[in-house]
This record gives sequence, C-alpha cells and structure tokens, in this order.
Amino acid sequence: MPTVCLAGTGGMLPLPERFLTTLYVRSGANALLIDCGEGTQVALAQAELKLSRINIIFITHAHADHVTGLPGLLLSLGNTNRSEPVTICYPAPAEQAIRGLLTVCGELPYQLILRPLPADQAISFPCPEADPFLTVSTLPLQHSVPCIGYRLSFGKRPRFLPEKARALAVPVTDYKALIDGRSITLPSGVTVLPEDVTAPPPSPTVITYVTDTLPLPEIADFGRDSELFICEGMYGSDDKREAMEQKKHTTMPDACRLAAKAGAKRLWLTHYSPAERTPEEYEDSLKALFPSLTIARNTSPLTHSF
Ligand SMILES: [Zn+2]
Ligand SMILES: [Zn+2]
Repeated sequence: MPTVCLAGTGGMLPLPERFLTTLYVRSGANALLIDCGEGTQVALAQAELKLSRINIIFITHAHADHVTGLPGLLLSLGNTNRSEPVTICYPAPAEQAIRGLLTVCGELPYQLILRPLPADQAISFPCPEADPFLTVSTLPLQHSVPCIGYRLSFGKRPRFLPEKARALAVPVTDYKALIDGRSITLPSGVTVLPEDVTAPPPSPTVITYVTDTLPLPEIADFGRDSELFICEGMYGSDDKREAMEQKKHTTMPDACRLAAKAGAKRLWLTHYSPAERTPEEYEDSLKALFPSLTIARNTSPLTHSF
C-alpha cells in the first residue's frame, strides 16, 4: 500500500524554508511524482526519498512552479545508471512547454515516454508503472491555463481462498496465476477465473491531488471518499476569496469546504502563497470547517503510510 510524502507546499515561488508543491507516492519499489517545480529534486533529497524509484511523473499544468524542476530531476535520474523508461503525463496543451524543457536535457540514458492527457475531459487509466493495482483518474480544472487534477485509486490484491480452489480441483501449481489475477483452464477444459477463488476485493485507497483551480463543485465529487485529499490553499482568510477567484485559485477555507463535501478522511493543504509565511496560524479556524486537517510546517515534509 502506498506511502505518500508532500515534500513541498509552496506556490508561485520557492522560499528558503519552503519548496514548491510536489507529491511523491511510493508503492513497493516504485514511485510516482505529481508536479515538479524548481528545486523539486532538492526537496526529495531532503525528505530522503529515492529519485531512482520514480517511473512516472504527473504534471498538473505548465506554470513554472509546477514544471521547471523537470530537467534537473531527469538529468539526476540519468546519473543513477537508470535504463528503465520514465513516463511524463501532462495536459495536452502543455506539450510545447514540456518539450521545450526537455530540450535542455540533452541525451538521456533512458527512454522518455510523453503522454499528453485530455485537458477538457475526465479520463481513467491503469498505472502499472507505479503499482499493478493503481488506477489514475483526471479532472479538468479551471485555471488561467489548462490544468488537471489527479485521483489515485490504489486497488488492493483480493484475498485468495484456497478452500474454494480445492473445491474446484485447481492444481496447487496454478494458484500463483490466479493470485496474480490470471484465469486458468483445468485439464477438464473448465476455465477458473481469479474471482472464483478470491474474496471480493477491499475498497481501494484513494488519494486526490488538486491544485491551481477555482474551487469547482465537481472537485468534491472527484475527491469522493478520499483517504487523503490534497488541495491548494493559497491564502488562509476568506477575505482573499474574491481576489483568488479572479486569479483562479482556491483559498484554505474553500479547500476545507471541498474536503468536507467530498467526505474525505483527511486533508493536507498545499500551494501556499509566498505571502503566507506561517499557514499554521489558521489551523484552529480551518479545523472548525474540516477537523482532520494537517498543515505542513515549512521545513518538514508531510508523510503518511496507508
Ligand atoms: Zn502554481
Ligand atoms: Zn498555476
């Protein structure tokens, strides 16, 4: 099951004591990254997260605070003797910006797979690069440039029921195939499906990451029943709401309202304005809106294992 680390929580500009927003999600030997602003590789190093695990990178949109760390990160990955490919997913209209950033990387010792995603329609797809049971879903957001949110749904391996396999006369040598999700055919010609010999799978663990957007009502549906809802909170006070609507951003109180509507189990705020030096000062008023809130302290990454 995944371990998540919000290694940076800054928006717009990095501060000496705060890295730009980036989420590292590890599952077993693999990891994925969401957003990669300037200095992300330093943020990951400080949080003691291994770059070499990253197989896939998701970009929300082509603003500098979300993408300009890509060349440095990819070059550092090239220094780790990596030969496995790295996939980069991004909203399709960001293609030119992404390709422009990649031109400064020169020749990398591994393959880069570019995967543009629709910015005007929600999609879902499996993500075996990070976890064999992971499904990623997207949501078009509303920002000053095309931007998408990501919902990570970590399915769980169903529990194998050997008594059912025995009752169907499945040879022990075929158990592994069924446990791995493959069907088998018995010598009698009967096909046994994995679901014939497993308990119904437990509900998936859902992590939602939404930043740089108006607080659209559909975000609550997108984040429905998240174990962890990670949402932009540019400013802590509702007084900034109108200004943030003009700039197409979300305030901390609105992030709390979205998390409550989504029925999320816990909320982490991210993408603070550089003007908000101590977002923890809002903790009490925000917890009145959503009690299971954690506000990252500037220098320490937030980590949780499921
Ligand atoms: Zn931003
Ligand atoms: Zn932006």
